[in-house]
Amino acid sequence: MSQTINDPPPQPAVVALDVGGTFVKWLVADHTGVLHHGMAPTRAADGPERSFGVVLDTVDSALATLPSTHVPVGIGLAVPGTVDERRGVCVYSENLGWRELPVVERVFEHTGLPVGFGHDVRAGATAEWRLGAGRGITDQMYVSVGTGLAAALLLDDRMVVSGGYAGEIGHGGSIEGEPCACGGRGCAETVASAAAIARRYAALTGTPVDGARDVLARAREGDSTARRVWDDAVEVLGSVMADLVRVTGVARIVVGGGLVHAGETLLAPLRDRVRERLTVHPAPHILPAVLGGAAGSWGAALLGWQAADIDLDPVLAAYTVAARTRDSTDETERPGTPRPTEGMFDKERK
Ligand SMILES: [Zn+2]
Repeated sequence: MSQTINDPPPQPAVVALDVGGTFVKWLVADHTGVLHHGMAPTRAADGPERSFGVVLDTVDSALATLPSTHVPVGIGLAVPGTVDERRGVCVYSENLGWRELPVVERVFEHTGLPVGFGHDVRAGATAEWRLGAGRGITDQMYVSVGTGLAAALLLDDRMVVSGGYAGEIGHGGSIEGEPCACGGRGCAETVASAAAIARRYAALTGTPVDGARDVLARAREGDSTARRVWDDAVEVLGSVMADLVRVTGVARIVVGGGLVHAGETLLAPLRDRVRERLTVHPAPHILPAVLGGAAGSWGAALLGWQAADIDLDPVLAAYTVAARTRDSTDETERPGTPRPTEGMFDKERK
């Protein structure tokens, strides 16, 4: 009997993993905020069993960081690809090489803990909806522009999943243009993702660049090819977003993923492109995600708490404060990104 009557009861905690094609980001959190966090290489090139092994190893090492004052109550996992949250299965992930992988069942077998499971973009969207730029909004869209291009749709306060296929805006829709990894041609992702911006500039000029950020810097210095590549991306993003507004009527779009670090250089022209394509619909408020690259991890943590069947309200209240603190200390990472204040919404609404 190591526990005495004077010991406080152990605090519940969750382990959250945002599984990316390159790194697994993990955090351990209790109801007040993050206790520990880190990242590990995904090793996706070594095959699906190896990368899934990395996920299990990361869960184990994250659990090992829990102080003796805490007890794990749930695991939250966010993964890329076609993800069927209802069945707990990763249907297909190009980045991870996973096909029909019963993630929830296997992580539960390994840990004995309840497992919350979701799509990385929908997890990021949930975090922005609960804690960030989409707080309190019942109809909205979260668009992640990074290596790929994908959206999450929240309509009538419910995330639209449709067997994992909802929000796959990056692929299809065209029959001509550059070939895409999906086997199609001229997909939005071949022009409007951060990876495509870098790739197109390198192909047009023969000059390799260090990502979309480098292309933007060249555009600012007057490089006309860089400007064209950047403008093409904004044009396609605007077209895709306007289509989605026509279908769903959402009034707010939260933009996340690596490209949003460009701030108003991306968002200001994007608002114009979307607005000029809409007639009967009001122009949506287009805002930067406030949780940045951590949105997927925060979303995974919320999935973990949900799986543990613990009242989310106090967790959300504490995490929102933590998220705000993070936002206010994040200026170096996202220079020039305006604070999403209500005043800004009003101005944009005009
Ligand atoms: Zn495609």
